[in-house]
Amino acid sequence: MRSIAIDGPAGAGKSTLARKLAKELGYLYVDTGAIYRTVALKVLRENADPSDPAQVIPLLEGLEIRMDYGSDGVQRMYLAGEDVSEAIREHRVSGFASRVSAIPEVRSFLLDFQRRLARSHNIVMDGRDIGTVVLPDADVKIFLTAAPEARARRRLLELEQRGEQAGFAAILQDIKERDYQDEHRSVAPLQQAADAVLLDTTELNLAQSMDRLLYLVKERISL
Ligand code: C5P
Repeated sequence: MRSIAIDGPAGAGKSTLARKLAKELGYLYVDTGAIYRTVALKVLRENADPSDPAQVIPLLEGLEIRMDYGSDGVQRMYLAGEDVSEAIREHRVSGFASRVSAIPEVRSFLLDFQRRLARSHNIVMDGRDIGTVVLPDADVKIFLTAAPEARARRRLLELEQRGEQAGFAAILQDIKERDYQDEHRSVAPLQQAADAVLLDTTELNLAQSMDRLLYLVKERISL
């Protein structure tokens, strides 16, 4: 099985590019952020403090998370049988996801789930620690990033398209906070794997980023 790991901070274009890349290659696309978001939604709904392991860890027991692909090929997440694919995209879930994902027990709980997918499929997997922790032997590792301002502009557009109201300053602040949390947590912090290729999309539009990504991948694996 082949695997391509794409890591990087929020708003760098990871999920859009990873999805397109997977489609292009005929691989399965796995958005691991969605998995963390599903745990975060559970924590939010239980009114638990996402930063308090004593409140979060007990919720993992009996947590029923499932993932599948709709007829449109889009990854869908289920929490205890309920399709939460839309609910996990809400802005407040992002902050919760960033906090619960800093808890080691949450990460180890989800590690097997992610590795199993890679054992049975050719995949493009995106996240924060795919190249460093989840799939250290991935065939290609890309670290996708962009300046925080560029990422905030993209996130704002995405939220507006979904009809959510948010200001640029608040989004930028939120992105910087999430970067900080993701980069400074003690377990699996966001960092470029030693053997990952850096792709900075600050000055690139989507089509240019995609061209560059495909080039980098094709250079590394014969398709
Ligand atoms: O990628 P996305 O923004 O949907 O991820 C939500 C949060 O989940 C991130 O801010 C990060 O804290 C966490 N996450 C993680 N490891 C991953 C994917 C996401 O810690 N592999």
